[in-house]
Amino acid sequence: MSAAEGTRGHLQPDRDENDPNRFLYHGTLRRNIPSIRDTGLRPQSGAWAGHFHPDAAALVYAVDDEHRSAAILAIAGQMAKAGLIRDPGNCSFDDFKNALIEHGTVVVVKATTFRRYPWSFESGHPTGAEPGNWYSSESVSIEREMIGREMLDWLNPSGDDFIYRYALAIRECLLRANAYHEGGHAIVAWALDLSVLEILIRDDRPGEHTKAIGDKRLPLIDQVAICKAGRQAEEVFENRLPRWASLQGDDVDALNLLAANDIRGAEAERWMTDACARSKELLTKHADEVHRLAARLIQCRHMDVDEFKLFMQGRK
Ligand SMILES: [Zn+2]
Repeated sequence: MSAAEGTRGHLQPDRDENDPNRFLYHGTLRRNIPSIRDTGLRPQSGAWAGHFHPDAAALVYAVDDEHRSAAILAIAGQMAKAGLIRDPGNCSFDDFKNALIEHGTVVVVKATTFRRYPWSFESGHPTGAEPGNWYSSESVSIEREMIGREMLDWLNPSGDDFIYRYALAIRECLLRANAYHEGGHAIVAWALDLSVLEILIRDDRPGEHTKAIGDKRLPLIDQVAICKAGRQAEEVFENRLPRWASLQGDDVDALNLLAANDIRGAEAERWMTDACARSKELLTKHADEVHRLAARLIQCRHMDVDEFKLFMQGRK
């Protein structure tokens, strides 16, 4: 047994989720380590700490032993944001792996202050957390850090090129998630009788290129529902953008729409929840159309107003 394997064995989390000695893992950049050592792994300091609402809890996310892919995504996302890899969806495996070795680290933290995001999409849970994530709203200190070979061994425990498969999966994941996200906006707009002018999706980063217009003014709840439809479609059809790739623009648009109608704070939160429900209702009702459109978008990447009209002909 190598030293790295011995260490890993020692850190093997207990299966009992309530065990205070259970360990969790947080993927980040090596250059973040000094400030984390100084101040603790602070809420809002990680790639998964994104939140849009000023009242939302500040959070640090970690993953358990079973979800190593999420740690890779977190590191890849931070590398992409910091410009250390140009294009996580398309760069070669060697570039990806070298950048991971050079810049990445997985820090090990005690699970004591963490709670688990439930495996459901109810409202009232921390924004930005994904089901199954562990989250803490308190500062967390690092037990130890894994870098280089030791980190790779942890990320790739069976030595089966998991990292390689994962690097490829990032591109596939972005493409599918974008197709469902933009397709969701388009189908909800279409269901509300707007004309969809253009949809464009990419496989290297989120798109937000769905444009729709209508002749009549929609009720406010429906306007907000269109903003929420992208993220809702990701959730409903289980094709989510990795958290680092998620944009908060939709939520900003929705909150601006509400603010323009003097709806703010807790009242805005209620509207957002209701708009999610409205969006989900329309997406579920037109689930066939969403799947069909997403599949088409994955192939063609782009549709204009005439192509969309033709594609949706006779479906309402
Ligand atoms: Zn969107």
